[in-house]
Amino acid sequence: MDDCIFCRIVKKEIPADICYEDEEILAFKDINPMAPVHILVIPKTHIASLNDIQPEHTFLLGKICTVLQQIAVQTGIAESGYRMFYNVGADGGQVVLHLHAHLIGGRKLKLEV
Ligand code: AMP
Ligand code: ZN
Repeated sequence: MDDCIFCRIVKKEIPADICYEDEEILAFKDINPMAPVHILVIPKTHIASLNDIQPEHTFLLGKICTVLQQIAVQTGIAESGYRMFYNVGADGGQVVLHLHAHLIGGRKLKLEV
C-alpha cells in the first residue's frame, strides 16, 4: 500500500534500522523506543491488524514469533525476559495500520493498561 509507512519501509522508500529480513518478514528498531530494546516485527505483506488475520496467515504468525525469539537471543534479553504484544484498533492503541509485533525488553517492565 502506497500510503502505509511500514509498506514503504518494506520497499526501502523510508529508512529503518533493520535487524532481520527474509522473503516474508522484516524487523527493525522502533523509532521511539519505550525500552532499551524495542523492535517491531512485521509481515512484508500488508495486513492491517490482527482483526484481518485469515487462516492462511497462521504460518506467517508463527514465523513472526520465531523471528522475534531469535532477536531476543541476539539482543541479549532472552534470559532476562521480554514482552511481545500487538496493539489492535483505537482502544488497543494501534497507530500504524500494518500488523506489527512489538518486542520490548532490557529493563524490568511494568504491567500497564
Ligand atoms: P502501534 O501504536 O502499535 O501502532 O505502534 C506503532 C509503532 O511504530 C510506534 O511504537 C512507533 O514509534 C513506531 N514507528 C512509527 N513510525 C516508525 C518508523 N518510521 N520507523 C520505526 N518505527 C516507527
Ligand atoms: Zn502496510
